[in-house]
Parts: sequence; structure tokens; C-alpha cells
Amino acid sequence: VSVASFFKSGHGLGKVGRVPVALRQRRLRIVVTGGAGFVGSHLVDKLIDRGNDVIVIDNFFTGRKENVVHHFGNPRFELIRHDVVEPILLEVDQIYHLACPASPVHYKYNPVKTIISFSMPLCLLHTNVMGTLNMLGLAKRIGARFLLTSTSEVYGDPLEHPQKETYWGNVNPIGERSCYDEGKRTAETLAMDYHRGADVEVRIARIFNTYGPRMCLDDGRVVSNFVAQAIRKEPLTVYGDGKQTRSFQYVSDLVDGLVALMEGEHVGPFNLGNPGEFTMLELAEVVKETIDSSATIEFKPNTADDPHKRKPDISKAKELLNWEPKIPLREGLPLMVRDFRNRILNEDEGKGL
Ligand code: NAD
Ligand code: UDP
Ligand code: UDP
Repeated sequence: VSVASFFKSGHGLGKVGRVPVALRQRRLRIVVTGGAGFVGSHLVDKLIDRGNDVIVIDNFFTGRKENVVHHFGNPRFELIRHDVVEPILLEVDQIYHLACPASPVHYKYNPVKTIISFSMPLCLLHTNVMGTLNMLGLAKRIGARFLLTSTSEVYGDPLEHPQKETYWGNVNPIGERSCYDEGKRTAETLAMDYHRGADVEVRIARIFNTYGPRMCLDDGRVVSNFVAQAIRKEPLTVYGDGKQTRSFQYVSDLVDGLVALMEGEHVGPFNLGNPGEFTMLELAEVVKETIDSSATIEFKPNTADDPHKRKPDISKAKELLNWEPKIPLREGLPLMVRDFRNRILNEDEGKGL
């Protein structure tokens, strides 16, 4: 029997998932795809802390076992090494779908896996399209609620500022970043199609730049680059003139927003981000203040299609989810620096330095 006909035939576990919520066991069972990654692992911590059963699905493309190792041995926690581009059978109440190779370095060098790949990356588009489709198919079969972690990148290089959820964006469909931007736009489309066409309870978050402990050390994102560079006594690499802006959100604020969205009654999309807006030069100054005031700056050419500015309008999330971020950059950065120092120290010790 093929996997597809297995699902369609109604064999397997499909009917169990249709049991009314009130009759199911009271403990929520939750899947987090990408749960061994940066954001996912913090979300898992919160869900486990509040007493949920959590299943992480991750293929460790950009995630690390170390991020979830503290839950090993906990009977409420399960880790499945699995690529979401392949179908999977599970019985859960909620699906947080985060799996996506999110780092710019990964998608710039391996663009095809964000949509469909020939070589190693087969990742970004492929994951965003097939991975999201499979998770939506799963949600449909078992009647689970499905949350998609989309991105502020769907706004592209925005012509509206700050960005509201009603803005349709300004994305170059054939540029270097397109595999990520268009992949997420397609994932949003799929989610809404399953919502309208198959009654799947969908939630969409558009996440703005997020930082915190457990970020990849060398993933090429600006906050992780600057922090690692300052700790290693290397110059901070500012791309272009450094006047482009971003709004940086601490990871625990994001996790609170994701849970509020999942638990609430509104589909979204919702911007989840911190409206504090910084130029990259200002960010470099905050990193210098926090880590090393003698750090220097080195200018490098910027990448193509880099958005000039980005800042979320979060009025919708404030009003409908009763959510807003609490941790400003100057408070959040030191919490991340502690984790980065330890990991860089361990790396150096590993190299015998
Ligand atoms: P991350 O790279 O740390 O985590 C992504 C996780 O997904 C990793 O553990 C990776 O191994 C896993 N993964 C990738 N492809 C997979 C596949 N095919 N099958 C199974 N697992 C797979 O990234 P993150 O920053 O934690 O991002 C989490 C989500 O939030 C992503 O969907 C990302 O697009 C979104 N997001 C993040 C930010 C941010 O600033 N961190 C901003 C906007 C959107
Ligand atoms: N799917 C899955 N797990 C499930 C149910 C479906 O991985 O429990 C996958 C399935 O293999 C398919 C996708 O989700 O590729 C979409 O499923 P759906 O039933 O919506 O579409 P169909 O299989 O009818 O094309
Ligand atoms: N950037 C930078 N130095 C770096 C890495 C990035 O100046 O070492 C810039 C990058 O050009 C962009 C901004 O920082 O303008 C944010 O980049 P990131 O990749 O972190 O996020 P995104 O572009 O996806 O918002």
C-alpha cells in the first residue's frame, strides 16, 4: 500500500484523531517541527515547563541535539530525526511548524533546498513547500491546530513602513533571497488554502529578526556575527553603509507570542517582532557597549536585494493576542552574550587553544 493510499483509505490512525477534543486525554500532545533549532528549542522548553507532551521532528540540517539534550530521559519529550519533506503519521493536538533552514548563510549558499534542489541543499523551497504540505496534510487528517512560522521577509524590501499585516510586500521573485521569501509566501498560501478548503485550524506568525541564546554561532545573521566577532576580538563586519534598519526581538518574547497565537482564536497573519528599530551601525554600537568598547568596524559589500528598512507594526497582535515584547535590545543582548562566550570558549578548548 502506498503512503498516499494508506492515508486516503482511512486505515491507520486517522479516525482516532477525529475523536472530539473533550474526549481526548487532557494532556496536550504537541509537535514542534524544527524543535532542535534556535527558536524551536526555546518553544519546547516552554511547552515542557507547562506540562505538555512534546514531540520534536528535526533533521538537524541547521539544528543541534545540544539544544534539546536537557530533555532526554523526560517521558514527556520525544525526538524524531525526520525530514518534513517526507510524510509522517502522528497523533497530536497541535503542530508548531518551524522546520526550515532559516540562516541566511545556508540559504544564500544552498538556495535550491529552500524551494527544490538538485544538490545537497534541496532545502529551502523544498522544505517550505513539501514540508508545509505534509504538516498541513497531517493536521487535516487528525484535526490538529497548525501554526506556521512565516517571516517578515514576505514583505521583501518594503515600500510601506512600518509594515502592517495588510501590506502585500515587495519581493523580487528571481533574486538571491527569493528561495526563502517566496518559499514562506507559498507556505502561507498553502496554510490558507487548507484553512479555507479543508477547515484546518491555521495560525500564521510573521516573525521579525529574533536573537538569543542557542543561535548558530556562524550562521551569518547580523546579531550572531557581531556578538561572535566582538567576543573573538575580530572586527564587526557591517555590510553596505550600515544605515539599513532592522528590529530585533528577544527569543522569549517571540515564544510567548507564538503560544498566545496558537492558543487564541485568530488565524492571522500576525507580526511578531520588537518595534525598536536600529541601523546596523547602531547595533554595532550596542554590541560594543555590551561586550568590548574597543571593537572595530569593517565595512563589507552588501548582498543583493537587502531590505533597506524593517519594523513591525504590532497593533494587531497587541489588540487580538494581548501580546507585546517586553525585552529591549540592551537587556536581551547580555543574556545571549553569556551563552556565546561559553560556546566560543568550549570551541577554543576543543581546538587546544
Ligand atoms: P533554525 O535554523 O535554528 O531552526 C530551524 C530548524 O529546522 C533546525 O533545527 C533545522 O535542523 C530544522 N529543519 C530544517 N529543515 C528541516 C527539514 N526539512 N525537516 C526537519 N527539520 C528541518 O532557525 P530558527 O531561527 O530557529 O527559525 C525557526 C523558524 O522561524 C523558521 O521557520 C524560520 O524561517 C522562522 N523565522 C525565524 C526568524 C529568526 O530571526 N530567527 C525570523 C523569521 C522567521
Ligand atoms: N500527510 C502526512 N501525514 C498524514 C497525512 C498526510 O505526512 O498524516 C501528507 C501526505 O503524504 C501528503 C500531504 O500530507 O503528501 C498532503 O496530504 P493531503 O491529504 O492533504 O493531500 P493528498 O494526499 O490527498 O494529496
Ligand atoms: N549584516 C551586516 N553584517 C553582518 C551580517 C549582516 O551588516 O555580518 C546586515 C545585512 O546586510 C542586513 C542586516 O544586517 O542588512 C540583517 O541581516 P540578517 O541576515 O541578520 O537578517 P535579514 O537580512 O534576514 O533581516
